[in-house]
Amino acid sequence: MEPTIADYKLSNYLVVTDTLESANGLLNKRVMLATRTARVMVIQNNLYDKLINASWDEIPSDIFSRLVNMEAIVPAEDDELQTVIGRHQLRVDQGATLNHVIQPTAMCQLGCGYCGQKHTKNYLDQSASDRILERIEGKFGYKNYSHVSISWFGSEPLVGLSQIREMSPKLKDMAERHNCTYSALVVTNGLSLKEHIFLELVKKHGVNKIEVTLDGTAEFHDARRHTKAGLSTFDLIMRNLLAIFNRPDFKELGCTISIRCNVDERNEEGVVPLIKLLASYNLQDKIDYFYVARIHSWGNEAHLLSHEKEDFAKKEIDWILSQYQHGFKPGLLPGLQPVVCISVTPDSEVFDAFGNVFDCTETPYVDTYADTNYVLGNVNNGLSTISKYRPLLSFNDEISNQEYPCSSCKMLPVCGGGCPKSWREGLVACPSNKFNVKEKLVLSYALSKGGVEVFAD
Ligand code: SF4
Ligand code: SF4
Repeated sequence: MEPTIADYKLSNYLVVTDTLESANGLLNKRVMLATRTARVMVIQNNLYDKLINASWDEIPSDIFSRLVNMEAIVPAEDDELQTVIGRHQLRVDQGATLNHVIQPTAMCQLGCGYCGQKHTKNYLDQSASDRILERIEGKFGYKNYSHVSISWFGSEPLVGLSQIREMSPKLKDMAERHNCTYSALVVTNGLSLKEHIFLELVKKHGVNKIEVTLDGTAEFHDARRHTKAGLSTFDLIMRNLLAIFNRPDFKELGCTISIRCNVDERNEEGVVPLIKLLASYNLQDKIDYFYVARIHSWGNEAHLLSHEKEDFAKKEIDWILSQYQHGFKPGLLPGLQPVVCISVTPDSEVFDAFGNVFDCTETPYVDTYADTNYVLGNVNNGLSTISKYRPLLSFNDEISNQEYPCSSCKMLPVCGGGCPKSWREGLVACPSNKFNVKEKLVLSYALSKGGVEVFAD
């Protein structure tokens, strides 16, 4: 039997702005985001009132259908939290990409004050890398994958370039043997990202994404991201990036480069000058995306110098506006985030340069986590000794059991729950969207009329 309008209710997963304003006064409409589908609609205030009052019979049927379609209105019997968590778990279960993070070295040239890692001159040796390959290959026995994705991650992965050279062909070969495509990501400080190394990574090692960190212009960046001996790094990194970005074939090479700017109270003044500098080099269409990240706890107290989350969220809007002013087009609207991170996917693992195995990227080389169950084992002790218990794997169940504020948060479908490890440590894990999504919706309306939004009169 077809459901009648009495069988529906307003979704809990709605974010609605205040009435929009223009220079001429109030516009009598609002922007509404249905986070269950990450879809946006601009609605008149009288439709908003009907929604709030559940006056379904007063809503024209075509608009009612659109609201049901975008899940702003949902079946009355729907237990929405369980529906959302069920979708998240389904995405984890059905994911066809086999993801792993490999840290080829425990060494990094930089001595950033906020870094919680202990760097040593250790590199993955032959025996450990063979065991890691064996470990990854074993995963194909459990599931049908169509893609293999490797993240070369910190300390500084390019210090371990020899290990990347050694392992990449074997990983690519493994993917091919299992009828999978292959790609790799490198998260780097950019100091060793010379043009010829970039070309090698892309052409030989299947790298199609690179993320480089710049903490402001030279004045700000060099005060914190200097070498361990205190030498400046900004100019060298910029020189590397410009040589790559200015290659006539940069786009055709098919490797995107994004820039992350880590910010706390000490370098916030450096963000806008950095945006201006990048714009002065005409990199607006070359940088895949530029984003500012709030420095978090790395098992240390680095987050204590960070802005309060609400304060950071306000500043983020200013930085987004600055990007638009200088010709960048940062994304504003959140997308669905069913898989929050690798810690909730049972087949993904992180390997450090000693052969230790983890379920979270932020735990290797950090003393606080050394003797905790975040260390699942070590490949050198035999693959069968690696613990099957993963401390963060039950995160979705814990949300479902109302153990975190995420259980009653409208943002859950487009957030996924932030960082599971942070919640476990008693730290609020909400991303800035939690605090500034309404401003972003208004901004998106102002910037792209006729674009993302659908009008319903
Ligand atoms: S648990 Fe948190 S820190 Fe660890 S990988 Fe996930 S998001 Fe990152
Ligand atoms: S982390 Fe914060 S914003 Fe994300 S779902 Fe949980 S409570 Fe909501």
